[in-house]
Amino acid sequence: MDIAVTETILVTGGAGYIGSHACVALLIAGFEVVVLDNFSNSHPLALERVQKITGRTLVFQQGDLRDHTMLDQLFHAHRISAVMHFAVLKAVGESCSNPLAYYDNNVVGTIHLLQVMQAHAVQRLIFSSSATVYRPSAVMPLDENAALGATNPYGQTKQMIEQMLMDCCASAPWQVALLRYFNPVGAHESGLIGEDPAGIPNNLLPYVAQVAAGVREVLPVFGNDYNTPDGTGVRDFIHVQDLVAGHLAALRLLLTKDKQQAFCRPYNLGTGNGYSVLEMVQAFERISGKSVRYRIMPRRDGDVAACWANAQRAQQELSWVAEKNLDAMLADSWRWQSNNPQGYRS
Ligand code: NAD
Ligand code: UDP
Repeated sequence: MDIAVTETILVTGGAGYIGSHACVALLIAGFEVVVLDNFSNSHPLALERVQKITGRTLVFQQGDLRDHTMLDQLFHAHRISAVMHFAVLKAVGESCSNPLAYYDNNVVGTIHLLQVMQAHAVQRLIFSSSATVYRPSAVMPLDENAALGATNPYGQTKQMIEQMLMDCCASAPWQVALLRYFNPVGAHESGLIGEDPAGIPNNLLPYVAQVAAGVREVLPVFGNDYNTPDGTGVRDFIHVQDLVAGHLAALRLLLTKDKQQAFCRPYNLGTGNGYSVLEMVQAFERISGKSVRYRIMPRRDGDVAACWANAQRAQQELSWVAEKNLDAMLADSWRWQSNNPQGYRS
Protein backbone atom coordinates (compact mmCIF):
# COMPACT_ATOMS: atom_id res chain seq x y z
CA MET A 1 0.00 0.00 0.00
CA ASP A 2 1.33 3.49 -0.88
CA ILE A 3 1.70 5.91 2.02
CA ALA A 4 0.41 9.44 1.48
CA VAL A 5 3.45 11.68 1.04
CA THR A 6 1.99 14.33 3.34
CA GLU A 7 2.71 12.33 6.51
CA THR A 8 4.87 14.29 8.98
CA ILE A 9 7.40 12.38 11.05
CA LEU A 10 8.99 13.73 14.22
CA VAL A 11 12.62 12.64 14.47
CA THR A 12 14.05 13.06 17.97
CA GLY A 13 17.84 13.19 17.87
CA GLY A 14 17.65 13.93 14.15
CA ALA A 15 20.97 15.82 14.13
CA GLY A 16 22.83 12.76 15.43
CA TYR A 17 24.63 10.05 13.51
CA ILE A 18 21.76 7.70 12.73
CA GLY A 19 19.02 10.34 13.02
CA SER A 20 20.59 12.51 10.29
CA HIS A 21 20.70 9.53 7.91
CA ALA A 22 17.08 8.75 8.79
CA CYS A 23 16.10 12.33 7.96
CA VAL A 24 17.72 11.96 4.52
CA ALA A 25 15.85 8.72 3.87
CA LEU A 26 12.52 10.21 5.05
CA LEU A 27 12.88 13.36 2.95
CA ILE A 28 13.87 11.38 -0.14
CA ALA A 29 10.84 9.12 0.40
CA GLY A 30 8.59 12.20 0.42
CA PHE A 31 7.79 12.54 4.12
CA GLU A 32 7.73 15.88 5.92
CA VAL A 33 10.27 15.91 8.75
CA VAL A 34 10.32 17.74 12.07
CA VAL A 35 13.56 17.35 14.04
CA LEU A 36 13.93 17.84 17.78
CA ASP A 37 17.50 17.89 19.08
CA ASN A 38 19.36 19.61 21.91
CA PHE A 39 22.78 19.20 20.21
CA SER A 40 24.16 17.52 23.33
CA ASN A 41 26.00 15.14 20.99
CA SER A 42 25.63 16.68 17.54
CA HIS A 43 26.14 19.75 15.40
CA PRO A 44 23.65 21.98 13.54
CA LEU A 45 25.67 21.56 10.34
CA ALA A 46 24.40 17.98 10.11
CA LEU A 47 20.91 19.28 9.42
CA GLU A 48 22.14 21.76 6.81
CA ARG A 49 23.90 18.87 5.09
CA VAL A 50 20.74 16.74 5.23
CA GLN A 51 18.93 19.52 3.37
CA LYS A 52 21.79 19.89 0.90
CA ILE A 53 21.78 16.16 0.10
CA THR A 54 18.03 15.96 -0.36
CA GLY A 55 17.28 19.40 -1.83
CA ARG A 56 14.40 19.57 0.66
CA THR A 57 13.81 21.50 3.85
CA LEU A 58 12.92 20.19 7.26
CA VAL A 59 11.53 21.86 10.36
CA PHE A 60 13.97 22.09 13.23
CA GLN A 61 13.26 22.66 16.92
CA GLN A 62 16.22 22.99 19.24
CA GLY A 63 15.21 21.69 22.65
CA ASP A 64 15.31 18.91 25.18
CA LEU A 65 12.91 15.99 25.36
CA ARG A 66 12.37 16.70 29.04
CA ASP A 67 10.94 20.17 28.24
CA HIS A 68 7.33 19.06 28.42
CA THR A 69 5.82 22.44 27.49
CA MET A 70 8.01 22.80 24.41
CA LEU A 71 7.18 19.23 23.32
CA ASP A 72 3.48 19.90 23.75
CA GLN A 73 3.75 23.06 21.62
CA LEU A 74 5.64 21.12 18.97
CA PHE A 75 2.82 18.59 18.70
CA HIS A 76 0.28 21.46 18.58
CA ALA A 77 2.19 23.16 15.79
CA HIS A 78 2.59 20.10 13.54
CA ARG A 79 0.27 17.28 12.53
CA ILE A 80 2.64 14.48 13.42
CA SER A 81 1.79 10.97 12.22
CA ALA A 82 4.59 9.02 13.86
CA VAL A 83 7.81 9.46 15.79
CA MET A 84 11.28 8.04 15.19
CA HIS A 85 12.94 8.27 18.59
CA PHE A 86 16.75 8.40 18.48
CA ALA A 87 17.44 11.00 21.21
CA VAL A 88 19.34 9.39 24.05
CA LEU A 89 22.80 9.43 25.57
CA LYS A 90 24.68 6.35 24.33
CA ALA A 91 28.19 6.08 25.82
CA VAL A 92 28.37 2.84 27.81
CA GLY A 93 31.36 3.86 29.95
CA GLU A 94 29.85 7.23 30.82
CA SER A 95 26.60 5.50 31.75
CA CYS A 96 28.53 3.42 34.33
CA SER A 97 30.19 6.49 35.86
CA ASN A 98 27.08 8.70 35.73
CA PRO A 99 24.04 6.39 35.68
CA LEU A 100 21.55 8.99 36.90
CA ALA A 101 22.27 11.24 33.92
CA TYR A 102 21.44 8.27 31.67
CA TYR A 103 18.23 7.28 33.45
CA ASP A 104 17.18 10.93 33.48
CA ASN A 105 17.96 11.74 29.86
CA ASN A 106 16.93 8.43 28.34
CA VAL A 107 14.11 7.09 30.49
CA VAL A 108 12.64 10.34 31.82
CA GLY A 109 13.05 11.97 28.40
CA THR A 110 11.15 9.09 26.79
CA ILE A 111 8.38 9.27 29.41
CA HIS A 112 7.82 12.94 28.51
CA LEU A 113 7.74 12.06 24.85
CA LEU A 114 5.22 9.25 25.37
CA GLN A 115 3.01 11.41 27.59
CA VAL A 116 2.85 14.19 25.00
CA MET A 117 2.31 11.70 22.17
CA GLN A 118 -0.56 10.12 24.09
CA ALA A 119 -2.11 13.53 24.86
CA HIS A 120 -2.09 14.29 21.13
CA ALA A 121 -3.28 10.81 20.11
CA VAL A 122 -0.06 10.12 18.20
CA GLN A 123 0.73 6.54 19.14
CA ARG A 124 3.04 5.30 16.39
CA LEU A 125 6.64 5.06 17.41
CA ILE A 126 9.86 3.60 16.08
CA PHE A 127 12.30 3.15 18.90
CA SER A 128 16.09 2.85 18.53
CA SER A 129 16.83 -0.13 20.68
CA SER A 130 20.03 -2.11 20.68
CA ALA A 131 21.51 -5.58 20.77
CA THR A 132 22.84 -4.55 24.20
CA VAL A 133 19.41 -5.45 25.62
CA TYR A 134 20.26 -9.15 25.15
CA ARG A 135 21.81 -11.10 27.99
CA PRO A 136 25.42 -12.03 27.07
CA SER A 137 25.32 -15.43 25.42
CA ALA A 138 27.70 -17.85 23.80
CA VAL A 139 24.99 -19.02 21.43
CA MET A 140 24.87 -17.08 18.16
CA PRO A 141 23.07 -15.76 16.20
CA LEU A 142 20.64 -13.93 18.46
CA ASP A 143 17.00 -13.89 17.50
CA GLU A 144 14.34 -11.68 19.08
CA ASN A 145 13.35 -14.41 21.56
CA ALA A 146 16.82 -14.55 23.11
CA ALA A 147 16.84 -13.72 26.83
CA LEU A 148 17.15 -10.06 27.75
CA GLY A 149 19.61 -8.85 30.38
CA ALA A 150 21.47 -5.63 29.72
CA THR A 151 24.74 -5.40 31.63
CA ASN A 152 25.27 -1.64 31.97
CA PRO A 153 23.10 1.42 32.74
CA TYR A 154 22.91 2.50 29.07
CA GLY A 155 21.61 -0.94 28.10
CA GLN A 156 19.26 -0.91 31.08
CA THR A 157 17.70 2.33 29.83
CA LYS A 158 17.03 0.66 26.47
CA GLN A 159 15.52 -2.38 28.14
CA MET A 160 13.37 -0.22 30.43
CA ILE A 161 12.09 1.84 27.52
CA GLU A 162 11.23 -1.36 25.63
CA GLN A 163 9.31 -2.54 28.70
CA MET A 164 7.50 0.80 29.03
CA LEU A 165 6.46 0.63 25.42
CA MET A 166 5.17 -2.93 25.81
CA ASP A 167 3.18 -1.82 28.87
CA CYS A 168 1.76 1.15 26.93
CA CYS A 169 0.65 -1.25 24.19
CA ALA A 170 -1.01 -3.49 26.76
CA SER A 171 -3.12 -0.57 27.96
CA ALA A 172 -3.87 1.36 24.76
CA PRO A 173 -3.58 0.89 21.00
CA TRP A 174 -0.03 2.03 20.36
CA GLN A 175 1.80 0.82 17.26
CA VAL A 176 5.46 0.38 18.09
CA ALA A 177 8.52 -1.11 16.43
CA LEU A 178 11.48 -1.85 18.70
CA LEU A 179 14.47 -1.88 16.38
CA ARG A 180 17.41 -3.65 17.94
CA TYR A 181 20.50 -2.44 16.12
CA PHE A 182 23.67 -4.46 15.96
CA ASN A 183 26.76 -2.35 15.07
CA PRO A 184 25.94 0.60 12.79
CA VAL A 185 28.89 1.88 10.72
CA GLY A 186 29.47 3.73 7.46
CA ALA A 187 28.08 7.02 6.26
CA HIS A 188 26.00 8.55 3.50
CA GLU A 189 27.76 8.00 0.16
CA SER A 190 28.03 11.78 -0.40
CA GLY A 191 30.56 12.01 2.44
CA LEU A 192 28.57 14.95 3.81
CA ILE A 193 27.12 13.32 6.92
CA GLY A 194 28.56 10.65 9.17
CA GLU A 195 29.49 9.67 12.70
CA ASP A 196 31.14 12.52 14.60
CA PRO A 197 32.10 11.31 18.07
CA ALA A 198 33.02 13.92 20.65
CA GLY A 199 36.46 13.22 22.09
CA ILE A 200 37.95 9.73 22.07
CA PRO A 201 35.68 7.39 20.12
CA ASN A 202 34.10 4.57 22.12
CA ASN A 203 33.25 2.52 19.06
CA LEU A 204 35.66 0.59 16.88
CA LEU A 205 35.05 2.03 13.42
CA PRO A 206 35.40 5.75 14.17
CA TYR A 207 38.59 4.92 16.06
CA VAL A 208 40.01 2.93 13.15
CA ALA A 209 39.08 5.72 10.73
CA GLN A 210 40.75 8.37 12.91
CA VAL A 211 43.97 6.33 13.10
CA ALA A 212 43.95 5.89 9.32
CA ALA A 213 43.46 9.66 8.94
CA GLY A 214 46.33 10.44 11.30
CA VAL A 215 44.03 12.06 13.89
CA ARG A 216 44.97 9.35 16.41
CA GLU A 217 48.16 7.35 16.62
CA VAL A 218 47.27 3.83 17.55
CA LEU A 219 44.11 1.76 17.91
CA PRO A 220 43.71 -0.12 21.19
CA VAL A 221 42.49 -3.64 20.41
CA PHE A 222 40.65 -4.81 23.47
CA GLY A 223 41.67 -8.43 23.87
CA ASN A 224 43.07 -11.06 21.49
CA ASP A 225 42.37 -14.06 23.70
CA TYR A 226 38.66 -14.53 23.01
CA ASN A 227 37.32 -17.80 21.73
CA THR A 228 37.03 -16.46 18.15
CA PRO A 229 39.01 -17.37 15.00
CA ASP A 230 41.71 -14.70 15.56
CA GLY A 231 41.08 -14.09 19.26
CA THR A 232 39.60 -10.59 18.81
CA GLY A 233 35.94 -9.66 19.29
CA VAL A 234 33.45 -10.42 16.51
CA ARG A 235 30.51 -8.11 15.72
CA ASP A 236 27.71 -7.74 13.18
CA PHE A 237 28.50 -4.45 11.45
CA ILE A 238 25.66 -2.95 9.47
CA HIS A 239 25.74 0.01 7.06
CA VAL A 240 23.84 2.99 8.47
CA GLN A 241 22.03 3.34 5.14
CA ASP A 242 20.72 -0.23 5.46
CA LEU A 243 19.78 0.51 9.05
CA VAL A 244 17.69 3.55 8.12
CA ALA A 245 16.09 1.59 5.28
CA GLY A 246 14.92 -0.76 8.05
CA HIS A 247 13.32 2.24 9.79
CA LEU A 248 11.46 3.21 6.65
CA ALA A 249 10.24 -0.36 6.28
CA ALA A 250 9.04 -0.39 9.90
CA LEU A 251 7.40 3.02 9.48
CA ARG A 252 5.49 1.82 6.42
CA LEU A 253 4.30 -1.20 8.38
CA LEU A 254 3.12 0.95 11.31
CA LEU A 255 1.35 3.43 9.05
CA THR A 256 -0.69 0.62 7.51
CA LYS A 257 -1.70 -0.82 10.90
CA ASP A 258 -5.21 -0.32 12.25
CA LYS A 259 -5.00 2.59 14.73
CA GLN A 260 -7.33 0.75 17.09
CA GLN A 261 -5.12 -2.33 17.38
CA ALA A 262 -2.10 -2.43 19.63
CA PHE A 263 1.12 -3.61 18.03
CA CYS A 264 4.55 -3.78 19.66
CA ARG A 265 7.25 -5.93 18.16
CA PRO A 266 11.04 -6.15 18.36
CA TYR A 267 13.09 -6.55 15.18
CA ASN A 268 16.81 -7.23 14.95
CA LEU A 269 18.56 -5.05 12.40
CA GLY A 270 21.83 -6.71 11.49
CA THR A 271 23.41 -8.48 8.53
CA GLY A 272 23.77 -11.91 10.12
CA ASN A 273 27.55 -11.83 9.45
CA GLY A 274 30.30 -11.34 12.00
CA TYR A 275 33.71 -9.72 11.44
CA SER A 276 36.52 -9.59 13.97
CA VAL A 277 38.32 -6.45 15.10
CA LEU A 278 41.47 -7.45 13.20
CA GLU A 279 39.49 -8.29 10.06
CA MET A 280 38.02 -4.80 10.26
CA VAL A 281 41.46 -3.24 10.64
CA GLN A 282 42.85 -5.16 7.65
CA ALA A 283 39.84 -4.40 5.46
CA PHE A 284 40.03 -0.71 6.39
CA GLU A 285 43.71 -0.60 5.40
CA ARG A 286 42.87 -2.16 2.05
CA ILE A 287 39.99 0.23 1.35
CA SER A 288 41.72 3.41 2.54
CA GLY A 289 45.25 2.64 1.38
CA LYS A 290 46.42 3.84 4.81
CA SER A 291 48.01 1.84 7.57
CA VAL A 292 46.22 1.43 10.88
CA ARG A 293 48.60 0.90 13.78
CA TYR A 294 47.14 -1.10 16.61
CA ARG A 295 48.20 -2.35 20.01
CA ILE A 296 46.74 -5.34 21.82
CA MET A 297 45.32 -4.24 25.17
CA PRO A 298 43.49 -6.07 27.96
CA ARG A 299 39.85 -6.96 27.38
CA ARG A 300 37.36 -4.12 27.90
CA ASP A 301 34.94 -4.64 30.80
CA GLY A 302 31.55 -5.84 29.70
CA ASP A 303 32.55 -6.93 26.17
CA VAL A 304 31.32 -10.26 24.84
CA ALA A 305 33.45 -12.39 22.53
CA ALA A 306 31.04 -12.45 19.62
CA CYS A 307 27.63 -11.10 18.73
CA TRP A 308 25.67 -11.30 15.52
CA ALA A 309 22.04 -11.22 14.51
CA ASN A 310 19.44 -13.52 13.19
CA ALA A 311 17.52 -10.90 11.18
CA GLN A 312 14.97 -13.22 9.59
CA ARG A 313 12.00 -11.64 11.34
CA ALA A 314 12.74 -8.26 9.74
CA GLN A 315 13.15 -9.98 6.39
CA GLN A 316 9.83 -11.80 6.68
CA GLU A 317 7.70 -9.09 8.29
CA LEU A 318 9.30 -5.85 7.05
CA SER A 319 10.55 -7.20 3.70
CA TRP A 320 13.89 -5.71 4.69
CA VAL A 321 17.35 -7.11 4.33
CA ALA A 322 20.76 -5.46 4.72
CA GLU A 323 22.25 -5.06 1.24
CA LYS A 324 25.58 -3.29 1.61
CA ASN A 325 28.74 -5.32 2.12
CA LEU A 326 31.74 -4.62 4.31
CA ASP A 327 33.69 -2.84 1.55
CA ALA A 328 30.81 -0.38 1.05
CA MET A 329 30.60 0.25 4.80
CA LEU A 330 34.31 0.99 5.05
CA ALA A 331 34.58 3.01 1.81
CA ASP A 332 31.73 5.28 2.92
CA SER A 333 33.16 5.58 6.40
CA TRP A 334 36.54 6.53 4.94
CA ARG A 335 35.04 9.10 2.55
CA TRP A 336 33.29 10.81 5.47
CA GLN A 337 36.43 10.66 7.64
CA SER A 338 38.84 11.93 4.98
CA ASN A 339 36.52 14.73 3.84
CA ASN A 340 35.86 15.78 7.46
CA PRO A 341 38.96 14.94 9.53
CA GLN A 342 37.57 16.79 12.55
CA GLY A 343 33.94 15.86 11.87
CA TYR A 344 31.52 18.76 11.54
CA ARG A 345 34.09 21.09 13.12
CA SER A 346 36.48 20.52 10.20
P1 NAD B 1 23.92 10.28 18.52
O1 NAD B 1 24.43 10.66 19.87
O2 NAD B 1 24.74 10.65 17.34
O3 NAD B 1 22.45 10.90 18.32
C1 NAD B 1 21.57 11.13 19.37
C2 NAD B 1 21.04 12.54 19.21
O4 NAD B 1 20.08 12.81 20.24
C3 NAD B 1 22.12 13.61 19.33
O5 NAD B 1 21.99 14.52 18.24
C4 NAD B 1 21.83 14.30 20.66
O6 NAD B 1 22.19 15.66 20.63
C5 NAD B 1 20.33 14.10 20.79
N1 NAD B 1 19.81 14.06 22.15
C6 NAD B 1 20.25 13.28 23.18
N2 NAD B 1 19.50 13.50 24.27
C7 NAD B 1 18.56 14.41 23.93
C8 NAD B 1 17.49 15.03 24.63
N3 NAD B 1 17.25 14.77 25.93
N4 NAD B 1 16.72 15.92 23.98
C9 NAD B 1 16.96 16.22 22.69
N5 NAD B 1 17.95 15.66 21.96
C10 NAD B 1 18.76 14.77 22.59
O7 NAD B 1 23.63 8.73 18.56
P2 NAD B 1 23.37 7.72 17.35
O8 NAD B 1 24.58 6.89 17.17
O9 NAD B 1 22.81 8.44 16.19
O10 NAD B 1 22.26 6.79 18.01
C11 NAD B 1 20.90 7.02 17.76
C12 NAD B 1 20.10 6.02 18.54
O11 NAD B 1 20.49 4.70 18.16
C13 NAD B 1 20.31 6.09 20.05
O12 NAD B 1 19.08 5.88 20.67
C14 NAD B 1 21.27 4.96 20.34
O13 NAD B 1 21.13 4.47 21.64
C15 NAD B 1 20.81 3.93 19.31
N6 NAD B 1 21.87 2.99 18.97
C16 NAD B 1 23.05 3.44 18.45
C17 NAD B 1 24.06 2.54 18.16
C18 NAD B 1 25.37 3.02 17.59
O14 NAD B 1 26.34 2.26 17.59
N7 NAD B 1 25.48 4.25 17.08
C19 NAD B 1 23.87 1.16 18.40
C20 NAD B 1 22.65 0.73 18.93
C21 NAD B 1 21.65 1.65 19.21
N1 UDP C 1 37.06 -2.36 20.15
C1 UDP C 1 38.42 -2.28 20.17
N2 UDP C 1 39.00 -1.05 20.26
C2 UDP C 1 38.28 0.10 20.33
C3 UDP C 1 36.86 0.01 20.31
C4 UDP C 1 36.29 -1.25 20.22
O1 UDP C 1 39.12 -3.29 20.10
O2 UDP C 1 38.86 1.19 20.43
C5 UDP C 1 36.42 -3.68 20.01
C6 UDP C 1 35.51 -4.04 21.17
O3 UDP C 1 36.25 -4.64 22.21
C7 UDP C 1 34.53 -5.00 20.50
C8 UDP C 1 34.42 -4.46 19.07
O4 UDP C 1 35.59 -3.65 18.87
O5 UDP C 1 35.07 -6.30 20.44
C9 UDP C 1 33.19 -3.59 18.83
O6 UDP C 1 33.15 -2.58 19.83
P1 UDP C 1 32.18 -1.33 19.71
O7 UDP C 1 32.41 -0.48 20.93
O8 UDP C 1 32.35 -0.67 18.38
O9 UDP C 1 30.73 -1.97 19.71
P2 UDP C 1 29.97 -2.84 20.84
O10 UDP C 1 30.89 -3.05 21.99
O11 UDP C 1 28.78 -2.02 21.18
O12 UDP C 1 29.59 -4.10 20.14
